[in-house]
This record gives sequence, C-alpha cells and structure tokens, in this order.
Amino acid sequence: MKQTIMYETNQKAGCLLHANELPWNISEEMRQEIINAIATLEFQRYPDTECTQLIKTYCEVASLFEKQVLAGNGSDELLGLLIGAYLGKGKTLYTLSPDFSMYDYYAGMYEAKVLKFKTREDGSYSVNDFVEFGRRNQVDMIMLSNPNNPTGFALSNAKLRIIAAAFPRIPVVIDEAYGEFYEESMRKEVECYPNLYVTRTLSKAYGLASMRIGFVISNSKNIEALKKYKAPYSVNALSQLVACVALCHAKEYQAYVEIIKQEREKLYQGLRKLSFLQVFRSSANYIYGKSKQASKLIVYLQEHGVIIRSYEDDSFRITIGSAKQNKYLLALCEAFEKEVG
Ligand code: PMP
Repeated sequence: MKQTIMYETNQKAGCLLHANELPWNISEEMRQEIINAIATLEFQRYPDTECTQLIKTYCEVASLFEKQVLAGNGSDELLGLLIGAYLGKGKTLYTLSPDFSMYDYYAGMYEAKVLKFKTREDGSYSVNDFVEFGRRNQVDMIMLSNPNNPTGFALSNAKLRIIAAAFPRIPVVIDEAYGEFYEESMRKEVECYPNLYVTRTLSKAYGLASMRIGFVISNSKNIEALKKYKAPYSVNALSQLVACVALCHAKEYQAYVEIIKQEREKLYQGLRKLSFLQVFRSSANYIYGKSKQASKLIVYLQEHGVIIRSYEDDSFRITIGSAKQNKYLLALCEAFEKEVG
C-alpha cells in the first residue's frame, strides 16, 4: 500500500469526530494532480451540466452504466430532488427512527408528512414489521440509510430486496452514504427493481466532503425522469475535476477504508469494556452508543478538544478518527469513567 496518499489533518483544527468525515486530508501526489488539472480549466465557461467525465469515471469504478447515474451537489441535493419529485403536500415519506435528519428537512420543505418506524436500541429492526406498518399507513415513498446513520446498523441485500419487492408502486430509496464501509450494496440491483434508487457520496470514504459530490443510481428510465427536476450546473467544474482525480485513486482509498474498519473494531472493543456506556456494532465509519452520562461525557470530551455528535435521548455517535485520535478519545473515556465512578 502506498504510504503517501494521505496525511493526518492538522491537529490545530481539533479532534473532530462528529461529522463522519475521514481523518486524513489528500496526499501531496493527489494535490499535485489536481493543481495540474486546474491549469486546464476554462473558468469563464459554465460547467458540464451532464457531468459527463465524472459519471464515466464513477461508472468505471462502480461497474455501472452511465445511463443509470445522475450526479449532484452532494447526495443531499439528490435526496431533496427525489423527495421533491415524488412527494408533496399530503403525501407520506416512510423512514426509520433514528435516521438521517435531512429526510425530515426535505419532507418539510415539500409539505410532506413523515412516518417513522422505530428501530431497536442497537438500530436493528424486523423487516416484516417495517413492511406491515408501511402498508397499513399507505406510505408514498421509502427512504432509509443503510448502513444507518446514526446507529451503524445495516440490513443485508436479501432483507432490502424484501422491502423493494413489497412496495412495487412507490419509490424505495436506499441511502448508501457509508456504503464503502459495508460489504454489501444495492447499486447493482437497480435493473431488478424498477422502483429502486440508491444514493452514494464522495463525502465519506473518499474524504471529499468539501467538494459536494453525490450520485443517484437507478434504471435509465427513472434517471431520465429525475433529470427534469434538477437545476442545471449544480455541480461546479472544480468539484467535477477533483472528484475525477480522486476516483482514479479508488484502489488506494480502499486500503484506507480497511484501516478505518480495523480502527472501528479496536475502538469498539475498547469502549465496550467501559461500564458507564453501551456501544453497538457498526457497519459504517462511526460508533453509536448510549449512556446515562452522555451529556456529561460530551462536555468532558469537548473540554479536552474532542467533538462528538450528541442526540437528545442520551445517545451519541463517534466518528472513527486516525489511530492517534481514537487512542486519545479512548483514554479520555477511561479517565471519565474513573471520575464518574
Ligand atoms: N446520507 C447520510 C446518511 C449522511 O449521513 C449524509 C451526510 N451526513 C448524507 C447522506 C449527505 O452526504 P453529502 O455530503 O453527499 O451531501
């Protein structure tokens, strides 16, 4: 594995373990490639609204057909687009509790209702009960993250197929923002289920949150129909260019995903030894947990320069950082345990 691809983020920025970003910045090698590519950019021109080169490069990496993909300004734009296209006043979006907060945001924007299926404490849920509850309430669209944000729980493809098949007349959107950290994906199944949409992002495993690049994958007919709702030029030329450079390094990124997964296991094993909190297994680049001391812990970590994500119900989510950051975080949690007794 090349050691040069990434270097650790400047620690002056603090130990930011709250937004599920990668802990490393891009390598000097990639930075140089980007600078060279920028030299050819025609700044006075509008960007390629079709994102032709970007989609071509992505399809080579993901083994998809170009007609199956639409690129957006982050997957956020595409999730909003899907909700705007298929929902409206009086319609119902069906999702999980907990799940990604932007689903509520977009549903609110289009005056749609949101129905939530409550998962178990560790994020797991019965697919049969999920289907039954959705049918009973005659929902108009399904959108869920898999792996789930914030719990890290992931359903297998076999279980997701049951959901896609149970609601053939409504769009079923599987948000795979953390797909690279999980072994399975529904990306390749979009020709089997005409109602299936899968979203992906370069913000997480590719460490390009600043560039805002996401994709929606579905059959070509659905993608053609979706294009009508998308504002032109939403993906700027610089982001398209940087994303193409990054995707050409896809194999090296895979090695860093493996490091994050190893770190996730180490951190999980370390945290589960602590008695004041409970943590759950995760298929993403973060660990979800609960503790009666959650709010105190969050303040304590903050005072020591570590930011994690907190939720109202005594739960929290910790992004997997670099080995050094994770060690520091674990040492702080151990010290906190001694303090609270
Ligand atoms: N889906 C989920 C589940 C997420 O956690 C996030 C980012 N927090 C997104 C989508 C949005 O990602 P992007 O940066 O591509 O807009």
